[in-house]
Amino acid sequence: MAKKKTSLFECQHCGEQSTKWMGKCPSCGGWDSFVELNTEQQEVLKQTSKIINTTSKAKPITQIEQDDIIRFSSNNHEFDLVLGGGIVPGSLTLIGGSPGVGKSTLLLKVAGDISQSGKKVLYVSGEESMGQIKLRANRLDANSDNLYLLSEIKLEEIQEELLRENYEAVVIDSIQTIYSSSLTSAPGSVSQVREITF
Ligand SMILES: [Zn+2]
Repeated sequence: MAKKKTSLFECQHCGEQSTKWMGKCPSCGGWDSFVELNTEQQEVLKQTSKIINTTSKAKPITQIEQDDIIRFSSNNHEFDLVLGGGIVPGSLTLIGGSPGVGKSTLLLKVAGDISQSGKKVLYVSGEESMGQIKLRANRLDANSDNLYLLSEIKLEEIQEELLRENYEAVVIDSIQTIYSSSLTSAPGSVSQVREITF
């Protein structure tokens, strides 16, 4: 018997989901903001919820083994403090803030600091050319042979670069400018940001 295909729609403003299309989002009030997710996108959602649901039984805290987290220093004392003592390998940190507040400047400085400690760092910009970033790096004293720049907005190209070199830290500036060609929704939309981050 053929399995019936279930449709899933998602508001591109707030991420509200529904099994049927709606003209007005009941959550954020946005008009015409629902798009249908394709089967691939629905699969990513299922996988995400599987990871979240792996531990289903509660345990007394005294019986839980502590994970030994070995952090490495970003070579920037204040940034280490904010992260709780350094960068956890394999972790993802989202830096948010109003436009113009200095996110790109801070991240380029941190990328420079990490690379100057001998680690290979990739700085991906979806907003600026390599020449513009180089100018800012000069001003911030962030230059290093270990700091690599890539001006790119396609996720697949970034993934290829990550496989090519053995980077120890990657900065993506910014996540909402990156898009995957396997998704139909617009860059910066809820579906794109969620899947690219995943
Ligand atoms: Zn909404």
